[in-house]
Amino acid sequence: MSLRIFGGPHRYFQGPGAIDELGRIARPFGARPVVIADAFVLDMLKDRLNAIFSNEGMEPVIRAFSGEITYAAIDALDASLGGEQPSLAIGIGGGKSLDAAKGLARKRGLDVVTVPTIASNDSPTSGSIAMYDDHHVMISVDRLARSPEAVIVDTALIAAAPLHFLRAGVGDAISKKFEAEGCLNGSGVTPYGTRPLLSAIAIADACYATLRRSAQTAFADLERGALTDAVEDTIEATILMSGLGFENGGLSLAHSLTRGLVKARDAKNAIHGQHVAWGALVQLAAEGRRAELRSLLAFNRSIGLATSLEDLGMNEPTDVEIEEIARWTTTAPHLGNLPAPIDAAGIAEAIRAVQRLSRA
Ligand SMILES: [Zn+2]
Repeated sequence: MSLRIFGGPHRYFQGPGAIDELGRIARPFGARPVVIADAFVLDMLKDRLNAIFSNEGMEPVIRAFSGEITYAAIDALDASLGGEQPSLAIGIGGGKSLDAAKGLARKRGLDVVTVPTIASNDSPTSGSIAMYDDHHVMISVDRLARSPEAVIVDTALIAAAPLHFLRAGVGDAISKKFEAEGCLNGSGVTPYGTRPLLSAIAIADACYATLRRSAQTAFADLERGALTDAVEDTIEATILMSGLGFENGGLSLAHSLTRGLVKARDAKNAIHGQHVAWGALVQLAAEGRRAELRSLLAFNRSIGLATSLEDLGMNEPTDVEIEEIARWTTTAPHLGNLPAPIDAAGIAEAIRAVQRLSRA
């Protein structure tokens, strides 16, 4: 008998205009939160944020953030506050601003509210912070003591962002069903260090089913500027279901492959969600799930997600390059989260199988 842990954000808000809830949500923590946001987001939302906070009698400390999430950057952000004692950390913008807010919250023991303005991955709901060194190499995934207090997903903002971000978010989410299953069927553990919960498997299943049902329609709707139920469903699956799925269900081979891809020629420049979308195919190949592999490959292709290394920007990968990706993949901590153990040779073979199927 082992401990089961389920974690998630305290509250999740989603819909057009949801950002207008921010003042009401932040106010109970105090009148002086720190807001960390991308400079262009601050520019774009300036008047709106002023209204949101002044309506509640709040005076936030505002910091623009750019660059990489390093310990030095978090220390500098912390130092820039001087003697301020902020009541809450609020991150607004893309992943880096949200992680900067989380990093500061972790350092100061603050609660955090995330307000993603793009949906390129599921980090807004999670307690994870991806830490990098000065060479843009991820060195660790730190954890907040508490999940975000609130996640505010203003779908009008998400819909106005370039579509390739949401497409990447769908890629990051599409793997979660297979990763959580791999974790459960193997001996894997979640980011809490405990075994996956059945609740997480159910959520990851719903995430996958929702995306298969709605994502294609959602992208067509967004092309014509329509914010429909299919768009809302796709965003919910991409941010909330995907985040709860991995934090409580665990990661597996699909995410392990990103360890190799971030070092691979040209493919390293592709966005995380595209890496993971391709990684999900390799995981299915490695597990011998042929029918699901074919089905997912066709789906990926239909919405512009990667089905080959070429799609990730790596033209004519050599055998040596494929073996390199496989070798780095074996350094990922969640590699063991598969029903049967796999080594670098097995991973390379699965990559080649997906390469062949994608060309067929
Ligand atoms: Zn991811």
